[in-house]
Amino acid sequence: MQQPITGYHRDEENHWVAELACGHNQHVRHNPPWTNRAWVTTEAGRNAMLGYLLNCKKCDEGAPPDRIDEVKDR
Ligand SMILES: [Zn+2]
Repeated sequence: MQQPITGYHRDEENHWVAELACGHNQHVRHNPPWTNRAWVTTEAGRNAMLGYLLNCKKCDEGAPPDRIDEVKDR
């Protein structure tokens, strides 16, 4: 299911995680040459991608929202 990015945070390994409107989180790693997402490395790039639609596999699987656990870990 396509879900827009509503925000970001970093995980414990300093990887960027997109927060989606559905309550799920999705890693948006910049890890060339496998995953090339140079936009995630700058604040301007991340801001420009707010609202961008990502395919959320967790929605397709009916997974419970991630947001609550993430907040607890902070
Ligand atoms: Zn989702």
